[in-house]
Amino acid sequence: MAQALPKTAEVVIIGGGIVGASIAYHLTQLGCRDVVMLERECIQGLGSTGRATGGVRAQFAHPTDIQMSLYSIECFKRFQDETSVDPGYRPNGYLFLATAENHLQSLKKLIALQQREGLKAVKLMNRKEIHEIAPFIFVEDLLGGSYCSTDGFIDPLNLLKGFSQKALERGAQLYLDTKVTGIRLENKKIQSVETNQGTISTHCVVNAAGAWAKHIASLIGIDLPVEPLRRHVAGTQPFPALPDEAPMVIELATSFHFRKDHQTGGVMLLWNDPSESWGESLSFSTDWLKKMLTFARRRVPMFSELQISPKRSWTGLYEVTPDRHPILGPAPGIEGFYLANGFSGHGVMHSPATGRVLAELITQAKTKLLDISSLGLERFELGQLIEETGVL
Ligand SMILES: Cc1cc2nc3c(=O)[nH]c(=O)nc-3n(C[C@H](O)[C@H](O)[C@H](O)COP(=O)(O)OP(=O)(O)OC[C@H]3O[C@@H](n4cnc5c(N)ncnc54)[C@H](O)[C@@H]3O)c2cc1C
Repeated sequence: MAQALPKTAEVVIIGGGIVGASIAYHLTQLGCRDVVMLERECIQGLGSTGRATGGVRAQFAHPTDIQMSLYSIECFKRFQDETSVDPGYRPNGYLFLATAENHLQSLKKLIALQQREGLKAVKLMNRKEIHEIAPFIFVEDLLGGSYCSTDGFIDPLNLLKGFSQKALERGAQLYLDTKVTGIRLENKKIQSVETNQGTISTHCVVNAAGAWAKHIASLIGIDLPVEPLRRHVAGTQPFPALPDEAPMVIELATSFHFRKDHQTGGVMLLWNDPSESWGESLSFSTDWLKKMLTFARRRVPMFSELQISPKRSWTGLYEVTPDRHPILGPAPGIEGFYLANGFSGHGVMHSPATGRVLAELITQAKTKLLDISSLGLERFELGQLIEETGVL
């Protein structure tokens, strides 16, 4: 039988994925311990977190993203000492490939921005240097690339485990099989959260419901522009020809990218199909596979020998905003409702910074970690969407 819900809580977090868990971890770190996490599934990780491939990069085009990554990567380095769980951080690097002049010029500008923001390890590479670190790549059509050796991989489920365990140790509570069905307001102030297991009185709620965040916000009449978008990953049989230390490689012209899967010894192959439509479908499309494989075989000739494994291939949902940037902070006009949504493919890598920012906002009403002024929900109504200044 499910454990009875408490009658009250200082903070209720809706969603027990990586974002909710990191917020609980950081709240309890700051001394706020009366924290309740609600997860509708019978275990954590069944949302997007358990389907993420675990890429981590600081090579971004917006200063806030770069700062979020720099904070988060430092957190991954300390994570095992702080939580006793190995997050599997592997700084294999990310290598972006440019085959067109405009992409090369963008990379140059981005490298300058990233270095100004404090990312020292990023550098421009010519064809010869690319061949040296990734000799398996077809380089004849490349104009150059950018590489950052502190980018790499983490294990999303281990990160989830570490954040959750430590938060629970410090007093937070997690309720599984507990679906949020309503949120009660009085005079635009949060009063309680209703679930299939009962009601909790609280004046502070965090929406950390991932691809389902729009529905949670709609419970109090907020129109949250976060939509689910299917993403595919093709996994393969073990493929020793791709070395363990290979970086994540991203072809800018097509968005085809791949990395070594260190758990299976195979390869993970990805491609963001621009014609993908919004929705919660998780079916696996062989059309997608066919198109992706043409990019894969052209960029890495030895991939003609890959054996795709249906058992190791999957889909999942990105939670996407109109400007592909998250929505962080208090919901305007509602006292006590916080948003941590719309990570658009970066929610795992940015979970440490997100958790810290939300915990500071909730306990201190401001955050010193980052300037999040550009990430508020009001930007969509004001037409102040974040402009993508680069191609990444
Ligand atoms: C194929 C794929 C690859 C990805 N690769 C990367 C990557 O390399 N790097 C990276 O940083 N990110 C990656 N992502 C994105 C990343 O997975 C997400 O941004 C991140 O997991 C979001 O975390 P979350 O906690 O907000 O959402 P989730 O993990 O989805 O958690 C939300 C939780 O809320 C629960 N919930 C929903 N509604 C309710 C309700 N009514 N009541 C109670 N609980 C509810 C859900 O069950 C779910 O467990 C990838 C995503 C996919 C799909």
